[in-house]
Amino acid sequence: MQKHNQKEHLYKLLVIGDLGVGKTSIIKRYVHQNFSPHYRATIGVDFALKVLSWDAETVVRLQLWDIAGQERFGNMTRVYYREAMGAFIVFDVTRPATFEAVTKWKEDLDSKLVLPNGKPVPTVLLANKCDQGIDVLMNNGIKMDQFCKENGFVGWFETSAKVMFPFLFKCFSKHREIGFQN
Ligand code: GDP
Ligand code: MG
Repeated sequence: MQKHNQKEHLYKLLVIGDLGVGKTSIIKRYVHQNFSPHYRATIGVDFALKVLSWDAETVVRLQLWDIAGQERFGNMTRVYYREAMGAFIVFDVTRPATFEAVTKWKEDLDSKLVLPNGKPVPTVLLANKCDQGIDVLMNNGIKMDQFCKENGFVGWFETSAKVMFPFLFKCFSKHREIGFQN
């Protein structure tokens, strides 16, 4: 319930990455607390809304945009990215190719969207399906912190849409000043 003196913020967050990495599952898990093991490619533009009571004065409405089947082309339109305040780029820890695609997604995003202050949109990297082991991360000896620094990610998390994972939005709290200008 919105209280009288509360301010409401609406934020568009993108969830991008290759087909089958778990974007739809992550959003479902976060918004509806459930997980469906049945594969279903999303068709059509889709988004889910998560309402957070940020603090006594602030309500945050997160609009999580799910790529709807077009990820097979490896890029999205400028219009799709428009006015997003943050992005998650997801890869599947069991499929190295999806990790290799991460930088391509980041480039696509940064080439089509910048914040009003001219900076790139804060982007968090999600290493999903970590319930399956973290072979990709281990085998490649990838230093994720360094990878994030070099490729302009604000951070990374191991996630699993299958088991409960703690949160998605918390990582953006560090970057609140970006989102709470208006
Ligand atoms: P999307 O194409 O990126 O939206 O991927 P989906 O959310 O449709 O997931 C693709 C497949 O991976 C589905 O069969 C999901 O059940 C499965 N999946 C998604 N996330 C996880 C996860 O964290 N762990 C496991 N084990 N399977 C997952
Ligand atoms: Mg999907």
